[in-house]
Amino acid sequence: MSKDLDIANPARTQAIMNAYGLRVKKSLGQNFLTDQNVLHNIVATADIGQNDNVIEIGPGIGALTEYLARAGHHVLAFEIDDRLLPILEETLFDYDNIDIINQDILKVDLPEMIATHLEPDRPLKLVANLPYYITTPILMNVLAGSVKFENIVVMMQKEVADRLAAEPGTKAYGALTIAVQYRMAAELAMIVPRTVFVPAPNVDSAIVKLTALPPRTHVPFDEAAFFKVVKAGFAHRRKNLWNNLQSLFGKLPETKTAIQAALDQAEIDPKIRAERLTVDEFITLTDALHASELL
Ligand code: SAM
Repeated sequence: MSKDLDIANPARTQAIMNAYGLRVKKSLGQNFLTDQNVLHNIVATADIGQNDNVIEIGPGIGALTEYLARAGHHVLAFEIDDRLLPILEETLFDYDNIDIINQDILKVDLPEMIATHLEPDRPLKLVANLPYYITTPILMNVLAGSVKFENIVVMMQKEVADRLAAEPGTKAYGALTIAVQYRMAAELAMIVPRTVFVPAPNVDSAIVKLTALPPRTHVPFDEAAFFKVVKAGFAHRRKNLWNNLQSLFGKLPETKTAIQAALDQAEIDPKIRAERLTVDEFITLTDALHASELL
């Protein structure tokens, strides 16, 4: 099999898949990128330099991994599908700065993996062509987790990308928006047509860049509690905040009194829906629920 060509090339991708008899698993969101311009764009958007450690989710047959390894210092990639490991072994044979871990990204202990595989004190970036069936849980885990990325550049379905920079009060605004905007500034880098993937997905895609914001001045008493309140606030989108908080804390009379006291303290109308609350209001609410001893 010719190695003169980048992996991200329709002919080489097909040749690799044929050589290994690989049939893609739709259930794992396997849509391989075959366009070098898109890959250049991803690496440029993430501003990957020789000093950078890069985490990749879902290397597939290595198209993006190869570009990241050329531009960065070290790549740590997580791939769930063990059929791809021998393929990656061959396609990425020439690179000695890549570690592939055969694990589910939703189950992996990221801080532990980073401590084991990456040199400390280097800028850390996350770059991925995400498996679309789990875009939201991956982003929620990454954003609510303790690992801090300088930037995150990810390809996702356009419809989810629209949620990241949404304004309060709009349909697209939700728990994911708040998790992103709590720490990062979101910008749409590029719309990507379905034709550049093999096989083509049945939705349009977008590359989004999330850049770390300077540390917040207004922070909740506990970040895990903040994310719990945000998730609960949006658990049932049609319910108002009062009802969603009752689902979280329970309906005992003393609990109701404590929720009411917290909402009063935070100066938030119980009948409002979570989609009207800004990040700062969710932080104020979290602290008020803490003051009422519910958290
Ligand atoms: N990076 C490759 C590319 O751009 O051509 C492949 C991207 S493909 C959209 C998504 C990849 O994520 C697939 O290789 C799939 O097997 C992998 N994947 C799916 N679920 C995963 C999970 N839970 N943990 C890690 N990898 C996963």
